[in-house]
Amino acid sequence: MKDITPTNGQFAMMQLPYERLGDTISQNTLSFHHGKHLKAYVDNLNKALPGSAFEGKSLQEIVRSSDGGIFNNAGQVLNHTMYFEQFSNSPRQMSDSFADQIKRDFGTFENLQKEMNQKGATLFGSGWVWLSIDSNKKLVITQNANADNPVRHGLIPLLTFDVWEHAYYLDYQNRRADYLADLWQHIDWPTVESRL
Ligand code: MN
Repeated sequence: MKDITPTNGQFAMMQLPYERLGDTISQNTLSFHHGKHLKAYVDNLNKALPGSAFEGKSLQEIVRSSDGGIFNNAGQVLNHTMYFEQFSNSPRQMSDSFADQIKRDFGTFENLQKEMNQKGATLFGSGWVWLSIDSNKKLVITQNANADNPVRHGLIPLLTFDVWEHAYYLDYQNRRADYLADLWQHIDWPTVESRL
């Protein structure tokens, strides 16, 4: 994925490419999730950067090497940017070569879905489930708590599902597994593949 860089030391809010996502994510959820939660992470990060060791660094570099409040906010800015950008109301299919890679590493696409849904549903508390590529070019699925991101663990993140309650509670209440199952129909695969 291309490095996200600040302008005059400040990160901009990413523009949401849709107002709702089919029948899966309502405009109400997005108005809070993007307009309030992400905005708070961006604002808090921008407040903390001036005068810190991370001023002027790319978002990915900050997420890799910071800790404490700067890390929590930078991680959430990167995670949410990737999450919101990977969906579309007119999603495009994956390439044959990516489909082949999934077959090689998981046997079938359904196995990949099953593992990602299961790891998302069983992550205790708040966090993210990720599909990444490791240093041996193999696809792997990980559970990452709170603001964590696979770039901190030597992986290249490709696809992510937010399992913090704020991502689904207004639409699905406690039914996290149903929210996860419904997300798949909205993935814009060329966006995911562009992160390789
Ligand atoms: Mn979130």
